[in-house]
Amino acid sequence: AELQGGDNCQFYDPRYQRLIQRRMEIEFHLRKALENNELLLQYQPEMCITDHRIVGFESLVRWNSPKLGLVSPAEFIPVAEETGLIYQLGEWVLREACRQNRKWQDAGISGLFVAVNLSSRQFYDQKLADKVGAILQETGLSPKGLELEITESMTMNRQSATPTLQTLRQLGLSVALDDFGTGYSSLAYLKELQIDKLKIDRSFVSEITKSTIDASIVNTIITLCKDLKLCVTAEGVESEEELLLLSQLGCNIAQGFLLSKPIDADQVPGFLKRFSDG
Ligand code: C2E
Ligand code: CA
Ligand code: CA
Ligand code: CA
Repeated sequence: AELQGGDNCQFYDPRYQRLIQRRMEIEFHLRKALENNELLLQYQPEMCITDHRIVGFESLVRWNSPKLGLVSPAEFIPVAEETGLIYQLGEWVLREACRQNRKWQDAGISGLFVAVNLSSRQFYDQKLADKVGAILQETGLSPKGLELEITESMTMNRQSATPTLQTLRQLGLSVALDDFGTGYSSLAYLKELQIDKLKIDRSFVSEITKSTIDASIVNTIITLCKDLKLCVTAEGVESEEELLLLSQLGCNIAQGFLLSKPIDADQVPGFLKRFSDG
């Protein structure tokens, strides 16, 4: 880093070199990950706070690379997004989650939704609604069994977000606004956005029993959702105290380690059984 001053300095920083190296490795191995069956989905339950029933599962992608080991989606999704690999990967996730929910339904586990995270490039793909429609057809899953999660930042371009949301919801599925509170969407815009559900980001939920400010933010978001007739989910619920407070604030759905960490698909029937048996 001492060799050269100015803006180019960072190129000689060994830490920066390692980051670039890592990114290139991820890109290289990710290209083969799909065809080599290295990706899998885990599922995290979401519970209705009023009747304590499981209402759905969020699918979360996992990559176990023979070369790199377990790589977090927080690390490889951005790479997939930058390189365009996300189209293939995202379609695989959608198909796999829909296929799995249909499989559960055929096994008698019915009435649950599976939530799928969309990335920004997927959301702006003109063919998204067609692809989703085709996957629902192909897997035989009713659109009621599918929820799509998008983030605030993806909806910033109104001209393009509005018709996309409209066509998606015409398919009969539901749309949730994920990580709410971390983006910049104006509250006025929220009123116009065609969404069904809002998920309060974990960063607000994790401190609600300790920070009165966070509790008041969460309270405000929940009240707003009631007024806008949106269903509201709290992410990252880790303790009974948090669940109790959320219940008092009128939150609809809870998700987090208190209920369960993300689990493999084959663990879902057992989890549901244990859960309903108390
Ligand atoms: P997200 O959509 O906000 O997903 C929730 C993340 O929080 C998951 O991390 C989950 O394991 C974690 N989590 C859930 N409950 C708790 C809790 O009580 N405490 C704590 N500390 N963490 C909790 P994960 O699986 O590592 O996923 C990270 C992010 O990667 C996701 O954040 C999402 O943005 C992205 N991602 C995961 N799967 C997909 C996918 O299939 N497609 C796309 N586009 N993005 C995905
Ligand atoms: Ca999510
Ligand atoms: Ca989230
Ligand atoms: Ca906490």
